[in-house]
Amino acid sequence: MKVFFKEFTISTSERFQVINITSYVEEAVKESGIRNGICLVFVPHATAAIIANEYEPNIVSDYIELVRQVFKPDYAWRHNRIDNNAHAHLASAVIGPSRIFPVREGRIVRGTWQEILLVELDGPRPRRRVMVEVMGE
Ligand code: ZN
Repeated sequence: MKVFFKEFTISTSERFQVINITSYVEEAVKESGIRNGICLVFVPHATAAIIANEYEPNIVSDYIELVRQVFKPDYAWRHNRIDNNAHAHLASAVIGPSRIFPVREGRIVRGTWQEILLVELDGPRPRRRVMVEVMGE
């Protein structure tokens, strides 16, 4: 079994932002030379998340609205006494910092409407790290 690792950085410009990182991940899989296996996409951050879903302006606004409605940035969360970003930690905890994809014949397997998206929950941040690990043969 072969293991390939690649890291790239993304800078975000908004407090809440959805960034399509599909091409970066697909490039990493191509570079790995691995034909069949799995691909892990992971962010080592407690206030960001990874999702696999449609990337279209309305649904992108809806993802952000969902985060606002469910995780309520203005609520008096206890953690807000420390650095005012409890909503971002909670959303990251629930959505999750990673997704795993099958790799078949050198390509990530994903549905037509499944783009790989980085969700910024506490931006802007100059340097969000995204790690891609490809394992297989
Ligand atoms: Zn915090």
